[in-house]
Amino acid sequence: MITTRQNFELSSVTTFAIPAKCGCYIEYDCPEDIPFILSTLRPDVDFIHIGGGSNLLFTSDFPGVVVHSAIKGIEVIDETPSEVKVMVGAGEKMDDFILWACDRRLWGIENLSGIPGEVGASAVQNVGAYGSEAADAIVEVNAYDREREEFVTIECNDCHYGYRDSIFKRQELRGCMIIHSVVYRLSKEPKPNINYPALKHLFPTPPSTPSQVREAVINVRNSKLPDPTEVPSAGSFFKNPVVSNEQLEHVIEVEGNDSFPHFNTEGGWKIPAAWLIDRCGWKGHRSGNVAVWHLQPLVIINPDRNATASEVLDLENAIKASVRERYGITLNPEVEHI
Ligand SMILES: Cc1cc2nc3c(=O)[nH]c(=O)nc-3n(C[C@H](O)[C@H](O)[C@H](O)COP(=O)(O)OP(=O)(O)OC[C@H]3O[C@@H](n4cnc5c(N)ncnc54)[C@H](O)[C@@H]3O)c2cc1C
Repeated sequence: MITTRQNFELSSVTTFAIPAKCGCYIEYDCPEDIPFILSTLRPDVDFIHIGGGSNLLFTSDFPGVVVHSAIKGIEVIDETPSEVKVMVGAGEKMDDFILWACDRRLWGIENLSGIPGEVGASAVQNVGAYGSEAADAIVEVNAYDREREEFVTIECNDCHYGYRDSIFKRQELRGCMIIHSVVYRLSKEPKPNINYPALKHLFPTPPSTPSQVREAVINVRNSKLPDPTEVPSAGSFFKNPVVSNEQLEHVIEVEGNDSFPHFNTEGGWKIPAAWLIDRCGWKGHRSGNVAVWHLQPLVIINPDRNATASEVLDLENAIKASVRERYGITLNPEVEHI
């Protein structure tokens, strides 16, 4: 079924709850609806496909069409003595799928517990947490290709997954593929991944079920991150910057020591954006209707659901300016601005 609503308020379908209207909001619940919906769109009208709206900031009203998949379904499509392949509808909540897997003692995605958003976007974003990422378990992605006007299957290797990155986010394919289902591979054999420091000390002996890991992950997350159903946010607002040797030297000079978190990585040194923002004094800061989460300065919140996009952008710019001024480092947003 396809439902269409004109002049739709998007704050109800994004976790940040920032007011913005779109010209038209369309929701559908089967893959065959996709080419039909696309055929009804005028070529000059802007179009975006969203998931659970947990990584989005609409910076103003969006005059175009916002489309959302309500395709559900979690189906085992292949099974061996050691693993199962499961096809999951793009509109399923990722965390519902993880709960489904944990309840059946299937391993592989339990570390991703508690991440908001839907299964379709999990394959776009390559969601990750606590040492695991979606790409570790994705077999293939089923999508509708808007350019070729046909349904396609993209193998995991061809998705070119990187840190919170995939071909679906890159220029060539951005907005081109509409994902309707994702096939995940889950293990029947215990495969706990508890090497991440925040988890390691919680398991002196290896966990025997994925539900134990799920519970631990959710507890750790709840101790740091705001629950988007209670405190609106879009999660980590900034990416962790990767800086040059010279920039790192400058940070060491400003700090007077090198005992802050920094990690050698491809292309330079990664410094946690949360640490940089914290050092600039932003943790818990509030300006007007927006604030920096008091337990994790990487998260900008809309505490009373009254914030506007311009207040968020003002705070974003103020944080960026202070980090640039103190450390000479430019932060880039993780949250997609539309
Ligand atoms: C409190 C909080 C904590 C978070 N913690 C984490 C974390 O630990 N790790 C992490 O990786 N992320 C985290 N996030 C970010 C967010 O949850 C993920 O990026 C998530 O995958 C976004 O899913 P979504 O369904 O909300 O997608 P949206 O935000 O709606 O969209 C994200 C992108 O996917 C595209 N898209 C969505 N659905 C489809 C589809 N069917 N076909 C094609 N393109 C599509 C959109 O166009 C957009 O580009 C957090 C967010 C919040 C609010």
